[in-house]
Amino acid sequence: MDKDCVFCKISAKEIPAKIEYEDEYCLSFPDINPRAKTHLLVIPKKHIPTINDLEDGDEKITGRMLTVAKKVAAKFNMPSYRLLISVGKEAGQEVFHLHLHVMSPH
Ligand code: AMP
Repeated sequence: MDKDCVFCKISAKEIPAKIEYEDEYCLSFPDINPRAKTHLLVIPKKHIPTINDLEDGDEKITGRMLTVAKKVAAKFNMPSYRLLISVGKEAGQEVFHLHLHVMSPH
């Protein structure tokens, strides 16, 4: 837990979000500023700033993030969707807690 991290605070239920999925590794909630008709985020509970900070053993978490993406896509009736992870400021990363964008095509 990083006390200054907005997604850690959501994970700790210190900041409200509509949690659509939660398990021991991950949670999913809508993006506050949606860029598609349906736009969810999948985050690990562990504070991992970016993909570049992954450590050996984190595969359980990163693998689970994809499974969760599939589940929330199904929950929101999206047979087709886009997945996006930005790594670093230059690529557009704003929140430095790993997250997977799950977006409808439109
Ligand atoms: P990125 O640009 O990949 O770092 O994406 C960060 C995303 O987090 C943006 O799409 C924001 O709209 C979203 N975001 C920031 N704060 C919140 C929040 N409190 N609840 C939900 N989404 C958020």
